[in-house]
Amino acid sequence: MKLKQEIQALYEKYKNDRSGEVNKSIPALSQVNADSFAISVAMANGKVIEVGDINTTFTIQSISKPFIYGLALEQYGSDFVESKVGIEPTGEDFDTVIKLDDQGRPYNPMVNSGAIAVTSLVNADTKKSRDEEVLGCLSNYAGRKLRLHSPTFKSEKESGDKNYAIAHLLKHFQILGKNLKQDLELYFKQCSASVTSTDLAMMGATLANNGVNPVTKKECVSPENLRHILSIILTCGMYNYSGEWVFDIGLPAKSGVSGGILMVVPGLMAISVYSPRLDKRGNSIRGIKVCEELSKIYNLHILDTSSPKKASEIL
Ligand code: GLU
Repeated sequence: MKLKQEIQALYEKYKNDRSGEVNKSIPALSQVNADSFAISVAMANGKVIEVGDINTTFTIQSISKPFIYGLALEQYGSDFVESKVGIEPTGEDFDTVIKLDDQGRPYNPMVNSGAIAVTSLVNADTKKSRDEEVLGCLSNYAGRKLRLHSPTFKSEKESGDKNYAIAHLLKHFQILGKNLKQDLELYFKQCSASVTSTDLAMMGATLANNGVNPVTKKECVSPENLRHILSIILTCGMYNYSGEWVFDIGLPAKSGVSGGILMVVPGLMAISVYSPRLDKRGNSIRGIKVCEELSKIYNLHILDTSSPKKASEIL
């Protein structure tokens, strides 16, 4: 079957799957429609295939982390960023309070301690605020202006005791400085950017297209830093399921507790699924099923040497 029919068929297959629970740790996230379901594909040439609740917006949550990591890499270079935050998986929950490696760094930029440390590095050029820099970065990848979802931002601030604890420990270890409150709020803001599943797919298509948004043609990240982003999400992108994910599905991907999954097929396309019911590790249940099936159907596993990876073969 061609990709469009396949996406439609997967949507039909899973649309009545009600397994899993929405996230309850951030009160605003527990108020979403648990049964929303959207699948979007954006090809590296900008063509979009979408089905389901494609106009439903949700907050990007941890799927912002690789993009803001890329922003820090662009601003400081990878040696400097790596001197602050490592690149090893933790085997711990993403919001563990807190584990540092033998060099005193958070393990990687996809767990909260590492992500907050990375966000604290972000600088704004003279005409912009740091908020604008962060939202602008995410918007450039999406190819349209993304907005902050204020109720979620407020809810994260009010319920984020664990993240405050992480931030204070980061300050204790001199990883954060005196701007702790501002840095943490910037992190909450990046997580509270509002997207649709197609926005996410387009952000992924920018990664798949060598860092250039396929529609606006804006270069969002250099090829070298793009490789760093994809490497980190390949090894650390799917919470404590990252090893199994690489084993079975074999593609760089990032998950968020709002129920989004973004999976990138470098050079070809990105697939995004929005379905807020999560498994115990915090990954969208229908999201994992759809991504797993697509990877198998089209032999997309990057270590499968027999993979057909030309758009003309599947469109
Ligand atoms: N804003 C959430 C937090 O900091 C993001 C969690 C996630 O999506 O993994 O806990």
